[in-house]
Order: sequence, then structure tokens, then C-alpha cells
Amino acid sequence: MFPEDKLSKWPSGQGHWINIPKSDWGDWRWQMKNRLTKREHIEKFLSLSEEESKGFEIAAGKLLVSVTPHFFNLINTTDPNCPIRKQVIPSFLESVTSLQESNDPVGEEGSMPVPGIVHRYPDRILFLVTDRCASYCRYCTRSRLVSNASGYGFRPNYKECIDYIKNNKSIRDVLISGGDPLLLSDEKLESLLCSLAQIEHVEFVRIGSRIPVFMPQRITDSLLNSLGRHHNLWMSIHVNHPTECTAELKDACSKIVRSGIPLGNQSVLLKGINDDLQTMRSLIHRLMMMKVRPYYLYQCDLVSGSSHLRADVNKGVEIIEKLRGHTTGYSIPQFVIDAPGGGGKIPINPNYIKQESKELIEMKNFEGETFSYPK
Ligand SMILES: *Cc1c(COP(=O)(O)O)cnc(C)c1O
Repeated sequence: MFPEDKLSKWPSGQGHWINIPKSDWGDWRWQMKNRLTKREHIEKFLSLSEEESKGFEIAAGKLLVSVTPHFFNLINTTDPNCPIRKQVIPSFLESVTSLQESNDPVGEEGSMPVPGIVHRYPDRILFLVTDRCASYCRYCTRSRLVSNASGYGFRPNYKECIDYIKNNKSIRDVLISGGDPLLLSDEKLESLLCSLAQIEHVEFVRIGSRIPVFMPQRITDSLLNSLGRHHNLWMSIHVNHPTECTAELKDACSKIVRSGIPLGNQSVLLKGINDDLQTMRSLIHRLMMMKVRPYYLYQCDLVSGSSHLRADVNKGVEIIEKLRGHTTGYSIPQFVIDAPGGGGKIPINPNYIKQESKELIEMKNFEGETFSYPK
């Protein structure tokens, strides 16, 4: 039992920006305009370590720094190890490329028939619609192109992408990601969704977005009106730590679900951020309270400069093992490794089978007791 979650505090409010008019604070364009992108912006509120300070120089040529005021407020400015801080404040350690790390850790470049489309699985594709995000996660798997700090020059031609989908009748599932698709204007997003809706073989569309977490203000009535018209649309958000579950995010999720869009969550297992049972349990319970179904827990991809944030694979398995059976089955995400070199997502599970013979399967249950079942 974690009594702190019974008393559930849902962080909320304008924090450092208490003097800004509510109408500005609640406007996503204000949040975008007032993102903290420079060392000086951040040093107004907290003192950077030497490592973080140097991190800004690395970031300029690798993956830009950007934090929305909403998300910045979640940083405990007196804690140098704050789990929110570590996700978005750069570190000099990003200059370290460890063994087997690369700029394209899951081999997407090799599966791009046209710029913007990653076609790895038989019946579904990843459609990257922008290289912009509201804030940049320091472990971003797509940092080679996201924010354009390293000069990739990502400019997908939507018509070419849509044509590719039209011409490939095996594609029944389109996952729209980026960058963050919810940074597109309502009109652009609507036009994309309508183009997809006109393709008969596309049965299912998903948006992958961290915008509700970084900037819940983006979830406007007009956006929801437009998204709500698409009956085959789901959304995956990306929450890593229970602190990110703010009252504003909860409200945004509630509106999204009421518009008829089911919500899932994808987390990344990160060292010192969420790689412990108590944090993960608290996170998945809060997600459930927000009507968000935990979907995947990712082992951190081998993207260059991420080793300081990468948790142990065994830690992930151990966490899942300690959740399964001990809490709501619905709330337990599938732990996966996106295989280096383009192998796709591979589920990594605790082993419950102790022994198998022609006649019997011998298993252990969640408490470690042994049971057998006749085949
Ligand atoms: C993750 C991913 C998908 C979607 O996979 P699901 O297991 O269906 O969520 C599709 N294409 C690519 C390239 C992906 O990385």
C-alpha cells in the first residue's frame, strides 16, 4: 500500500508564473512562446550544475533545449536529482556515445520508403508529420531529426506520404507521430485525418503525443471537436513519472476520452527517474485514475548520448514481475525492447514457466508458489 497515493495530490496551477493572466497561461500559444530554451531562462529559477550548464553547448548541435512553463513548474528546483528535471534539462553526459549507441538506434532510416513513413510491420506504419515538439526529452529516440539541431532538414511531403499509404493496401493502421503531431494547427491535422479517412483500407489511426503532458492547454474544444469526428482514432500519450499527472493533464485526458478517443500511455524506463517499483506503481495507478491504459514500457533505445539515463533491462523485468498479480491487470504495461537494427518491438516478460514436459506445465504464480497444469 502506498498511502501517499490515497491522499493523491495532483499538482496544479501557474507556479512560477502566478502573476501571468489566466487567459495567457491557459493559451497554448502563450506556453509555446514562453518556453524555456536558454541557460539564462532556466537559471532564473534554479542553479544549474556544471554538467547541466555544459549540457547546453552539446544540446545546440544535438537536440535543442525547450521546456514549456507548465512542465517546468513540475521541477523541484531544490532537488538536483529531480526526475522531471533529468528528462528535459541537458547534461554534458549527452556528449558520451557508449558502445552500440547510434543516431538511429531502432533502424528507422532503413525502413523509410518515402521521407516521413517508417514501414516496418506488415499492416501498419509510422507517419512522422513534424520534427517539432513542445519540449525535448533528452533521451529522444528520434533526436537525429527532431528539433533539427544536427541539420537533418526533415521536411515530409504529406501528399507523397498519403499516396504511399493509398498505394499500399496492406496498411490498415497508421500511427501519426513525429516530433509531436499536436503541434500542427487544427486545420492541418484535420486535413491529414480526412485524407486518411478517405483511404478505404485504413481502419485505425493513432496519434502519439506528449503534448497533453507538456502543454495540456493545447487540448482545446476546437481540437476535440475535430478529433472527435474521427471514429477510428486512438491516442497514446507519454507519461514517465507520477508527478507529471497534474490536475490539468487529468482534465485534458477526461475531455479526450469524452470525445470518444481511447487513451493509452507509453513510458520509457529511465535510470533514477522511474526505474523503481514504488514510482512505477504510483504512475500506473494515476494513469488508471485518468482513464489512461498503460500500454508499453520501453527499455530506453540505444540512442547516442543516453547512457546516463538508461536503466537496466533486468530492472524492468523485476518491476513488471512485482506488479503482475499484485495490482490491477489493466494497469500493467507490456515491457518491450525496440530491437537495435530494425527488429521492431520485442516483448520482454518475467518467466512463469518453471518446467515443461509432454504432460505437464509447471508454473509459478505471483507469490512464487508452484502450480502445474495438465496439457
Ligand atoms: C511502434 C511502432 C508501430 C506500432 O506498433 P504497435 O505494437 O502496433 O503499437 C508501428 N510502426 C513502427 C515503425 C513502430 O516503431
